[in-house]
Amino acid sequence: MTTCALPDFDRLVPPHIKCFEAYVPSKPDDVLMQYYGCSSLLRLNNNENPLGPPGESRQAILDFPPNKASVYPSGDAYHLRRKLAERFGMGPDQFLVGNGANEVIAFVIKAFCQEGDNIVTADKTFAVYEWVAQFSGFEARTVPLKDYGFNDEAMLAAADERTKIFFVCNPNNPTGTYWDRNKLLNFLNRVGNKSIVVVDEAYCEFVEKPDFPDAMELLSQYPNLVTFRTFSKMFGLASLRIGYLAGSPEVVDIIRRTCVVYSVNALAQAAALAALESKHHIENTRALVREAKEYLNHEMNSLGLFTVGEEGCYLMVRLPMSDSLAYRKLMSQGVMIRTMTGFRFPNFIRVSVGEMPAMQRFVHCLKNILRESGHD
Ligand SMILES: *Cc1c(COP(=O)(O)O)cnc(C)c1O
Repeated sequence: MTTCALPDFDRLVPPHIKCFEAYVPSKPDDVLMQYYGCSSLLRLNNNENPLGPPGESRQAILDFPPNKASVYPSGDAYHLRRKLAERFGMGPDQFLVGNGANEVIAFVIKAFCQEGDNIVTADKTFAVYEWVAQFSGFEARTVPLKDYGFNDEAMLAAADERTKIFFVCNPNNPTGTYWDRNKLLNFLNRVGNKSIVVVDEAYCEFVEKPDFPDAMELLSQYPNLVTFRTFSKMFGLASLRIGYLAGSPEVVDIIRRTCVVYSVNALAQAAALAALESKHHIENTRALVREAKEYLNHEMNSLGLFTVGEEGCYLMVRLPMSDSLAYRKLMSQGVMIRTMTGFRFPNFIRVSVGEMPAMQRFVHCLKNILRESGHD
């Protein structure tokens, strides 16, 4: 048997792929527990809802007939889009559902960018906007944050006639800052109709501030505005992978051309549909996050640690040691957090807000590692 030579990568692989490094996801719990020698694992790394999905979604999952696993789902999430339309007072054709909000990021970039175009976002935000642009061959202009928030002036200054899309994460992951209504309106007015403005509202359901803008309500006024929402965070359906975008009928009509139909499975559609019927899930989750976050903030401050994170179900903490060292030491005690060097915040960790016992365990383990390294 002869073995052929490897493909001619020099010729085959575009330069923007050659220089791109694949994202390495965390290993499954059993593998991590064995590697770090811990008997349990508390995941505080992915901003998941500690309460899980709402009761209505749990029931929908239990009611899902196993037989239907062999049948293709609705290719365009028909019923879910109608429900969303009813909920937000818009048309079903103003929504596109994806395999997580992560997938709809690619839909938008593919729909509007061609060779030589760029997108503008922040340097310290959800990195997927930047990554999808780059591995698709487009420039991502990443503008430094100002006071831990998106810098509107600098973003406008970074844009040129090849800027097709602005990505604003509101509230921002990982810093928890947000643009209030005035700031967002002012930005939209200044962009005009020259570019698409995406407002990623993955964590909007956690925000209780009266001046927080609901981008969904601004869609009729700004036809170039696109909002992202997900069922992964507040609605606790991260494992089923379902999120969506909304925009004006005209913009969504363009984006629809690039979307992969049948990428959203039927179980996810059923659970998401039920989640929209939930009665107390949002208020219960908010109450839990409020209490646990206040506790966490208080404990970090009494340890003399600086924290960032006004809104959202997560808190950034600056440590007097490297974040990757802290990660390994916390892992050996069975606590998983997110290192922030990858988000360009060296020595910071991000902790997802969980139930009180989980928060207490995290604080206890953090105190251990600070003491061990002489920082208490
Ligand atoms: C988690 C997250 C998403 C996407 O989540 P999916 O699970 O892909 O729906 C999008 N944006 C931000 C800022 C997030 O934190």
